[in-house]
Amino acid sequence: MNDTDTFRAEVRQWLEANCPASMRTPISSAEMLWSSSHNVFLNDDQRLWFERMRDRGWFAPGWPPTCGGAGLSARQVRVLEQEMMALGCRQPQYNLGIWMLAPVLLELGTEAQQLEHLPPMARGSVRWCQGFSEPNAGSDLASLKTRAVRDGDDFIVDGQKIWTSYGNVSDWMYALVRTDPTAKKQKGISFLLIDMKSPGITVRPIELISGKSSFCEVFFDKLRVPARNLVGALNDGWTVAKKLLDHERAAMSKFTEGGAPSHDALAVAAPYLADAGPVWRDRLAAALMDQQAFALTTRRMHEMAHARQDIGAIGSIMKLVQTEQEATKYELLQQMMGQRGLSWEGDEFTRDEHDICRQWLYTKTYTIAGGASEIQLNLIARRVLGLPG
Ligand SMILES: Cc1cc2nc3c(=O)[nH]c(=O)nc-3n(C[C@H](O)[C@H](O)[C@H](O)COP(=O)(O)OP(=O)(O)OC[C@H]3O[C@@H](n4cnc5c(N)ncnc54)[C@H](O)[C@@H]3O)c2cc1C
Repeated sequence: MNDTDTFRAEVRQWLEANCPASMRTPISSAEMLWSSSHNVFLNDDQRLWFERMRDRGWFAPGWPPTCGGAGLSARQVRVLEQEMMALGCRQPQYNLGIWMLAPVLLELGTEAQQLEHLPPMARGSVRWCQGFSEPNAGSDLASLKTRAVRDGDDFIVDGQKIWTSYGNVSDWMYALVRTDPTAKKQKGISFLLIDMKSPGITVRPIELISGKSSFCEVFFDKLRVPARNLVGALNDGWTVAKKLLDHERAAMSKFTEGGAPSHDALAVAAPYLADAGPVWRDRLAAALMDQQAFALTTRRMHEMAHARQDIGAIGSIMKLVQTEQEATKYELLQQMMGQRGLSWEGDEFTRDEHDICRQWLYTKTYTIAGGASEIQLNLIARRVLGLPG
């Protein structure tokens, strides 16, 4: 056995011994634990699984132990992900901070910022939200207007963010602010870490047609943010944001690897195949082949990352393809199920056949969040194909 095989065997043995049986079943959205300073566990198994993975440093397995990680190599992290998927283990927690902000802090943050912010993420005791979009700055993010003016050891921030997912339940926000209104728009932006408990922040949930309020408007009124919370250089926040968005796309292109086998719409379609004609079977086969091709491309990307090749720009392709594929699969499923696909039972996502309608609608957001598909195509044209802007 080589080192990887030995590590794989150890990981599998540990997972088999420590992942409770109920944590190896498909997960619904309602059961996902988005970790924060006020974690609420649905049952003892969920708490146990959370604590065991946390104590092993496996919420952030590739980070250095000083930052709360387990210090695993990229190859070992991949083995852990593969073994969790193979055993059907649920993700013990979901964490925007770990997926998106942490890689940026590890690359560009000061040591003090890393030591302050990474360990709480690795313990699953803090929730981060993203304060990028503004009422007139979505796809054209660099048009953002929220101002930050230096005043002694602080910045004073005034302005508004919108579509801030779960801003009302988050502990911290990473945000883009304008620090030089005279510079060319991408040049005058800085990246700040904001404690959501600070005076001067008002959060207003936006009620959606579903009756839910996962999005918020966030208003800043003479909010004081310590200057030590600036990540990267002053007026160079666009560089930080671009890196963070690369990580966001990478996270979004891994939906089907979320350790949640129930994400697989095509599995839900299986019982309907008997009644379906050849046209449907053809479309389903095409979707399955696309899914397989995507899985192989993902493997190739991991190999490229392992060989230290820059895969940042390719993330746009992965995000575009993955989110469009998810939307197509649910579209197909919805059509195959006919009126049975219109049911709207219960009030949470169950990810089973009774909840296809809600999931189908939700996939519409995948191709907008994290940069709309059209924007990904523009990025691919410029950053991957090298076409003129
Ligand atoms: C589920 C979800 C969660 C989100 N969470 C957050 C969050 O936590 N924090 C946050 O800051 N934001 C968040 N957003 C906002 C998201 O980043 C924006 O919705 C997105 O960037 C698009 O911006 P917009 O809504 O202003 O649309 P617009 O920019 O107005 O775009 C409208 C349409 O025009 C097209 N378009 C625009 N410009 C171009 C162009 N140059 N070329 C071709 N087509 C173009 C777009 O593709 C789109 O189809 C979230 C959005 C969703 C759906």
